[in-house]
Amino acid sequence: MNMTAVAELRRRLHELGFDAVRFVSVSDQTIGHGLRPWLANEFHADMHWMERTVEKRSQPAAVLSGVRTMIMLGVNYWPGQNVERVMDTGAQPRWARYALHADYHDTMKPALVAAGKLLEEFYAITGEDYRYYVDTGPVQERVWAERAGLGFTGKNAMLISPDFGNWLFLATILTRVEIAPDQPLSPNTPRPEDRDVRTGLWCGKCTRCIDACPTGAIVEPGVVDARRCISYQTIENKGVVPRELRAGIGTRIYGCDICAEVCPWNRFAQESRRVLLTTRYDLAELSLRQVLELTPESFAEIFRKTAIKRVKLAGLLRNACIVAGNTRAQDCRDVVFRLCTHASPLVRAHAVWALYRIDGYEVATRALTEARTVEPDASVLEEYSAEDAFAR
Ligand code: SF4
Repeated sequence: MNMTAVAELRRRLHELGFDAVRFVSVSDQTIGHGLRPWLANEFHADMHWMERTVEKRSQPAAVLSGVRTMIMLGVNYWPGQNVERVMDTGAQPRWARYALHADYHDTMKPALVAAGKLLEEFYAITGEDYRYYVDTGPVQERVWAERAGLGFTGKNAMLISPDFGNWLFLATILTRVEIAPDQPLSPNTPRPEDRDVRTGLWCGKCTRCIDACPTGAIVEPGVVDARRCISYQTIENKGVVPRELRAGIGTRIYGCDICAEVCPWNRFAQESRRVLLTTRYDLAELSLRQVLELTPESFAEIFRKTAIKRVKLAGLLRNACIVAGNTRAQDCRDVVFRLCTHASPLVRAHAVWALYRIDGYEVATRALTEARTVEPDASVLEEYSAEDAFAR
């Protein structure tokens, strides 16, 4: 296919709603050499699916035999200054920006289906000759995006685009078609698969993300220990959040963004076109009390079609209790107290912790005497004991 046709394909993909469109040739080499040591260090916490898919992640031909090209697609989700201002008031719990949308896996999928049809039209192929994923497939999107010149890997381990900063959703189409590849960002980075991201080539001397992470999750430039990461703890972790990390979570109720939002490359961020995204910026206006008072019914209704529903009501109440404890939320004291006898031990454990923060040891101990006496769950009793130890 000549370059004019490639440009036309790029234009059509952009028209579908993809803000960044880059092509990269797939060689037989394995890629992403950092993945195995990262797994060996158990930085993936309990995300065991990453271990199970490591072979496929390192070798795209194991995902689609005969694959020749990866089409790397980015969708810009930076909300723009007006929404940033609403989020910045400090009065509400903070949500990761990506979560302030209907689930992007769902809203981007029709465009990927349409992109596949485009490939069929351009190259006279069938649906057997390509496969697409929105960040849930066994593909190391960030590594391929970097090879395709879509951005570079920052010390925060995020893909950073010189055009959009830290705010791109990534999607990938693997295809057996050969398409003229784009170049990586710089002639200084000819072999991204071998390049040590720790050199932080595009970060220069900057260490803002490492310094800003409240839980010290960036253990080396470009290496995040998920076990210490607020995003992991508030979204992926289904159990008790380690006590020593709770203070660092601050007001982050779902996800984090701190290592992304401090990044100076965001000066190039552009307001999202919102072609493939359905915004839910209204969620950023929920008060902590409104979250703490959620019922199964209101949770299902408010978070319908969002990624947030994945943490389920108990997970969100757990996170909200941490925020209440961190902000010593006196105005939520009554509802936190009620949650100390919630049906879910996960909620009770974090509510007890929060009430001790709000009331102080003496008052909370008196208020919780009865609840503690009848508490059957070991993880909740541990919270009471931890406070005893703390008070001594
Ligand atoms: Fe790199 Fe600085 Fe951005 Fe971190 S904050 S990714 S060190 S440029």
